[in-house]
Amino acid sequence: MSQQLSREFLIQLANEYGTPLYVYHAEKIKEQYDKLKGAFGKINARFYYACKALTNINVLKYVNSLGAGVDCVSIYEVKLALKAGFDPKNILYTPNCVDFQEIVAAKDLGVNINIDNISILEQFGNKFGSSYPVCIRLNPHIMAGGNFKISTGHVDSKFGISIHQMRHIERVVKSTKLKVTGVHMHTGSEIKDIGVFLEGLDVMFEITSHFPDLEFIDLGSGFKVPYQPDDPETDVNTLGQKMAVAFKNFEKETGKKLQVWFEPGKYLVSQCGYFVVKTNVVKQTPATVFAGVNSGFNHLIRPMFYEAYHHIENISNPNGPERIYTVVGNICETDTFAWDRKLHEVREGDYLVFYNAGAYGFEMSSNFNSRLKPAEVLVKDSKAHLIRKRDEFEDLLKNQIEVL
Ligand SMILES: *Cc1c(COP(=O)(O)O)cnc(C)c1O
Repeated sequence: MSQQLSREFLIQLANEYGTPLYVYHAEKIKEQYDKLKGAFGKINARFYYACKALTNINVLKYVNSLGAGVDCVSIYEVKLALKAGFDPKNILYTPNCVDFQEIVAAKDLGVNINIDNISILEQFGNKFGSSYPVCIRLNPHIMAGGNFKISTGHVDSKFGISIHQMRHIERVVKSTKLKVTGVHMHTGSEIKDIGVFLEGLDVMFEITSHFPDLEFIDLGSGFKVPYQPDDPETDVNTLGQKMAVAFKNFEKETGKKLQVWFEPGKYLVSQCGYFVVKTNVVKQTPATVFAGVNSGFNHLIRPMFYEAYHHIENISNPNGPERIYTVVGNICETDTFAWDRKLHEVREGDYLVFYNAGAYGFEMSSNFNSRLKPAEVLVKDSKAHLIRKRDEFEDLLKNQIEVL
């Protein structure tokens, strides 16, 4: 049975904690994690939660308690993960275009490091040689992902070292005696076609011969979850079966036993999240009926930034007649969550809920228009816990220095 919070419970939380409100359901994260573990049970798979999707310390602690590792893209995410109790060896640091000093800092903290350009590879090798193993992030030039902004494998991508630079990588590794224990690729987000992962795996298998110390292949993420009610989810079970066959053949041919790492973000936390807002204004124009809510792209930017679809429901009037609305926020900018959405009749004061709000929701929020960031609540064992206070007016001035 799929885990889901009821309308009544969400209304109760909105009444108690106010809106706009992010609500996360812990057991849904576990359900997703267990699905992955089951699907890849026949291969030696490890999962590193890509925490840039949602970094609340309680979510990190919960993910740690499940036994997963964590993938971090900044030194501060690494520090949050350590604070949440992750063992450094279960932390993977995958930065892009950061200062070399940040990579040295990660090394000092003892975490796994993923290097994604030749300049840093050379500096790291010159400084540390064989004393600290690294993983290399490659760009296999496989086009995939929900849209261009979240696709990372194309030729113009800033991520990874091109596989066409393999000779150069080898030169650097050989002359600095670097110990390369992992190779990594992450082709993008929201990949439906499992063929993309298998193609990536083949590319990775081919290059393993260049790295005698290799212990793992990291296939990044890109697992898709449904956003629209009839959307497909990446078929992880079939992928797991096909990968088990591929690994068996690889082991037979090479005698090498490798681990496979994944870095799911959305897959673990997208569906655990609900964003509850209140309708301020219902406004009829010559062209449409707007439902204007007490939020905006300052709290949930995915619809405006990626043209992402988030399913919306009017939880206050579930039996009302269905009407067509354009759902907008209260920000002075183009701020449309959804055009022409069929909702049960929306009245001023009604609570609307956005589904799939766990990943890249609160995490991408801002104080634009000098508005306050929402509160966050974690539901675990059917109990609600406030895990972040709503911003207060003073927070807007917190780091400002009045000189006039
Ligand atoms: C963002 C990111 C992920 C997670 O992607 P999802 O689509 O959220 O699963 C994984 N690995 C790396 C390196 C990333 O940058």
